[in-house]
Amino acid sequence: MSGAIGRLRPPPSGPADRAQRAQAFVSAVSLEVSAKAMPALRAEAARMAQGATISIPYLPSEDDTARLAAARTVRELGFEPMPHLSARRIGSRAALEHFIDRAVIDAGVERCLVIAGDLSKPAGPFADSASIIESGVLERAGIKVVGVGGHPQGHPVMTSADRWRVLERKCQRIEARGMAPLVITQFAFDADVVLTWLNELRARGITHPVLVGIPGPASIARLVRYAAMCGVSASTSMLSRYGVSLGRLLGSAGPDVFVDRLVDGLTEAHGQVSPHLFPFGGIAQSMEWVEHYRMRAGDECLAQMSVQLVQTPDLPLRCPCCGHRTLDERGTFRICAVCFWEDDGQDDYDADVVRDGPNGCLSLTQGRANYKAFGASQMKDLPYVRLPFPHELP
Ligand SMILES: [Zn+2]
Repeated sequence: MSGAIGRLRPPPSGPADRAQRAQAFVSAVSLEVSAKAMPALRAEAARMAQGATISIPYLPSEDDTARLAAARTVRELGFEPMPHLSARRIGSRAALEHFIDRAVIDAGVERCLVIAGDLSKPAGPFADSASIIESGVLERAGIKVVGVGGHPQGHPVMTSADRWRVLERKCQRIEARGMAPLVITQFAFDADVVLTWLNELRARGITHPVLVGIPGPASIARLVRYAAMCGVSASTSMLSRYGVSLGRLLGSAGPDVFVDRLVDGLTEAHGQVSPHLFPFGGIAQSMEWVEHYRMRAGDECLAQMSVQLVQTPDLPLRCPCCGHRTLDERGTFRICAVCFWEDDGQDDYDADVVRDGPNGCLSLTQGRANYKAFGASQMKDLPYVRLPFPHELP
């Protein structure tokens, strides 16, 4: 007889397990928050998991002082600040050193994201993210994790082969310098494109954790505008795969479909993959979405588990004497391990009868009274009984 506890647990790949994975996936969410949005992050901080990574983008409209203040705020709120370093916008090596030193000392920054940046001509000595990695500034200051960009939807100038070669090389160089690489993808609207890219990433032996960029809930007009600003393809077919109803382009949309597809497609072979939300519609709206998605997954999980309970026809049957669920059949002379009553089919309807069967001169009523009094149906069987398991309780 298999224990009922095993049956209560959802099967490893069943729908309840999927709901659990969905819940765990969104619970590990990280967020991109610019310096000017720090008050909004502070207001929503209680809704985010402590220790969550908050990446701080390098906006031309914000200076190093603002970015450092933002990193300190993120740390103060109990999160992990990850400032972006935009190579081509950094004026000098001294400026990079100063920023990183202050970030590490004042805000306990341990991770940063290096990107080339959007200037066509570098403002200083750093032409690309590799030149920042190779500068030695990061590990010397105490940076432990270095994020590099991944591009599931392609790159405006590089071919696919070049892109992979560059990514592999950057990860190797970060490791060679004693730091841990982290891959952060540009946001995309099509989860299948991201899954295909993740398959190739892992097939190439790049096993580092990945943060998948996901557009947070926003008005469709805003989603399209941000996509254009960031050079992300947002064709109507891609938007429809994200869950945008093309009949109502004036409405808003959230990443439910995107995250559902990702959760369905991710396997253990994909390693550590977590969602990185770009809160285009505001931080409050994104956190609300995370809460709703998590609750929906939780409800699905419970619903699936109760369906399984209802569908389980072979729950162990109650022993007529002690009442515990110890019998897999009734009336077939099974001996209850909890009270040692031998089940010859006697039950409430003839409980007072002494059947002179396997239980000798004992009626079921007497057996029940004995069990209540000293824990076995008969005193002579007391050495053989055991306590009921939790799943056997009536
Ligand atoms: Zn029993």
